[in-house]
Amino acid sequence: MERKNIVVVGTSFAGYTGALELKELLGDKHNITVVANSHNFVFIPSLIWYPFGLRDEKDISFDVRPIYASKGISFIEEAVTRFDPEKKLVITPTQEIPYDYLLIATGPKVDFDMIPGLGPHKNSHSICNVGHAEDARKGWEEFLKDPGPIVIGAAQGAACFGAAYEFLFNVRYQLKKHHLQDKVKLSYVTAEPFLAHFGIGGFSNGQTMCEKMFKMYDIDWYTNATIEEVKPDGVQLKDGTFLPSRYTMIIPRFLGIDAIRNTPGLGNANGFIETDDGYRHKVYPEIYAAGVTVFVPPAGETPVACGVPKTGYPSEQMAKTAAHNIKAAIDGTEEKTMPFSMIHAYCIMDTGNMGMMIVGDHMLGSRHLEFIIPGPQAHWAKLAFEKYFLYSRKHAHV
Ligand SMILES: Cc1cc2nc3c(=O)[nH]c(=O)nc-3n(C[C@H](O)[C@H](O)[C@H](O)COP(=O)(O)OP(=O)(O)OC[C@H]3O[C@@H](n4cnc5c(N)ncnc54)[C@H](O)[C@@H]3O)c2cc1C
Repeated sequence: MERKNIVVVGTSFAGYTGALELKELLGDKHNITVVANSHNFVFIPSLIWYPFGLRDEKDISFDVRPIYASKGISFIEEAVTRFDPEKKLVITPTQEIPYDYLLIATGPKVDFDMIPGLGPHKNSHSICNVGHAEDARKGWEEFLKDPGPIVIGAAQGAACFGAAYEFLFNVRYQLKKHHLQDKVKLSYVTAEPFLAHFGIGGFSNGQTMCEKMFKMYDIDWYTNATIEEVKPDGVQLKDGTFLPSRYTMIIPRFLGIDAIRNTPGLGNANGFIETDDGYRHKVYPEIYAAGVTVFVPPAGETPVACGVPKTGYPSEQMAKTAAHNIKAAIDGTEEKTMPFSMIHAYCIMDTGNMGMMIVGDHMLGSRHLEFIIPGPQAHWAKLAFEKYFLYSRKHAHV
């Protein structure tokens, strides 16, 4: 059989899983090349602790190059600027990489431009990547010298609500450690229609549980919120409410990356890739996508736009399905489907010294099984999971 060139773009939850799964399935019969703008796999969920000095980059990342080398997977460290789906090329500033099959797993572009004053180097912090978290740490150190009110939130169109909640509760825990809990007003602003909607229409008794926690910790909340502007001294909502703030962290809306947006016909208006339930592009059958880069329609109508969170576990499951289907396309065997809505929901939300374990039989729609177990064991489970995840991935187990 003719050797095929399979190119994977991105090397995080989706790309790394996809590349290793492809190698497992295809062996040495075909060429696998990964292209990514960084050789570091960062365990992004741990960035909720970074601003408090509890983690550094070296604690939560590893170099993918020796692993790929040991597996016979080629690795090119460059930013992709564009794709050419007609000529089947991945384009970087220095080369054009041909493919027979392509798996795009490039995650999000974080959209700070949609709201005036939003984002690092403007008036709010973010924890979406290491650079942002580093900036959020400097801001936190300054805040501790001159504390005041705090606003944490998720902007209109955001999807990564879990990270906003985790950071909020971790801030609350840090305030307690610094004996500031009675001096600092903590507020949460969100596009969600109710607490613990999470962009997936709610989950089990999450709303009641979150409301109780917010009341217990004296956190004000503003749901259905549209942020009009982030100012140096606070957050202006569209309904006229102004929330004074001396430390603001807002999770923004995500878009697809520029390389997708620079390629007509590859992504939708927001740069996300529309696929079938086997994660194959709807127009270009040689192209597959996995992770945040895949378009998933909102979980239902909400007064303010809420995206669907494409978290780590579903990102990996999408990549495994896509890898299976690339092999099926090469071999002419049966493809499989794994609709996003049907992927299991697993999440551990940390609150500093406690947390919640969230389990559901599927991500979206009505579930037969869904439960949340709160308590200190969830915090320890999150710490154990971080160690397990990094150990297993460093040893090429996906
Ligand atoms: C603060 C925070 C906390 C979170 N906590 C959790 C959690 O507790 N549990 C959970 O399941 N999920 C969590 N998530 C979500 C999780 O991080 C995502 O689901 C996951 O990162 C998605 O993986 P991905 O591979 O699709 O994209 P990403 O992880 O964003 O990876 C994108 C990859 O593409 C590469 N890339 C990007 N642009 C280019 C380009 N132009 N050229 C070449 N390569 C490129 C990058 O280098 C990277 O390798 C959290 C997210 C955040 C921000």
